[in-house]
Amino acid sequence: KLYNQVQDLKGSIRVYCRVRPFLSGSSYLSTVDHIEDGNITINTLSKYGKGCKSFTFNKVFGQSATQAEVFSDMQPLIRSVLDGYNVCIFAYGQTGSGKTYTMAGPKDLTEKNQGVNYRALGDLFLLAEQRKDTFRYDVSVQMIEIYNEQVRDLLVTDGSNKRLEIYNSSQTGLNVPDASLMHVSSTSDVIDLMNLGQRNRAVGATALNDRSSRSHSCLTVHVQGRDLTSGTILRGCMHLVDLAGSERVDKSEVTGDRLKEAQHINKSLSALGDVIASLAQKNPHVPYRNSKLTQLLQDSLGGQAKTLMFVHISPEPDALGETISTLKFAERVA
Ligand code: ADP
Ligand code: MG
Repeated sequence: KLYNQVQDLKGSIRVYCRVRPFLSGSSYLSTVDHIEDGNITINTLSKYGKGCKSFTFNKVFGQSATQAEVFSDMQPLIRSVLDGYNVCIFAYGQTGSGKTYTMAGPKDLTEKNQGVNYRALGDLFLLAEQRKDTFRYDVSVQMIEIYNEQVRDLLVTDGSNKRLEIYNSSQTGLNVPDASLMHVSSTSDVIDLMNLGQRNRAVGATALNDRSSRSHSCLTVHVQGRDLTSGTILRGCMHLVDLAGSERVDKSEVTGDRLKEAQHINKSLSALGDVIASLAQKNPHVPYRNSKLTQLLQDSLGGQAKTLMFVHISPEPDALGETISTLKFAERVA
């Protein structure tokens, strides 16, 4: 019995890796030597010749993987939200490695290249419809940003930029009770809201200062289902998190605001790594309190909740250092 419990716990944290294709116009030698099942081997291309380093994850997607393939592997996890599970999906990686592509999609969005966020909600609506004779589901979303350890609502329509607090409201069960909570019932509702969120996210940014790569954005989907025969209520929620870029900045080269941003990002990504690693090791003490991100997600990390850490890497040789450090981060939480 104990063995089964341990297996279940272990099964609640998954780690996937995705390699971004080369961007048009570039033709390099890839640092990815080969991919086989859950293994990825990196050619470390040292000046002394070819070196290889292998990493093992639950799943590795190569450059040719489509959005649909990536989503179909995550589908069971996403569907479990309708059964009352809490789910967290994180996109981790250096800036430019494809995190936003996986979660949202590219700027010229089409049905084919839509990311996980849209597909996940579309799938929840579809499944809710299929179960409509036995369950009545209600779906609502919040979208927030964490920048310099401050929480902002991304679904405001009046341009307000209020700092929000994280605290659990016993009345609503929400962890950021003051952030807009929008009811959604169709994919077009979702597209409108995400466009609003993207626009608000860009507000704080100047051309030189692409803030989206230095803040965490979190789309939270709250699902409530009522069993029409027994009246029982099931609640599940899913956090879809596009993390800030994980690249380390050279402390000797940045100062002021940029250094402060880098320190906040570094601190929150290590706090996230520490929490997931201690859950994976079944450590009785899980250090949730060390960052806003882990505080926000506390009740969706650990326990019965399911976590997917989805790391992204760039294939270019000049990204090798960050690629290795991303894969080491992922290996630690696997
Ligand atoms: P990040 O969010 O990690 O900074 P992006 O998702 O913005 O990175 O990706 C950087 C660029 O690469 C974008 O132009 C994006 O459209 C493109 N890109 C990323 N992943 C893919 C992919 N799997 N297929 C095609 N283009 C991609
Ligand atoms: Mg991005």
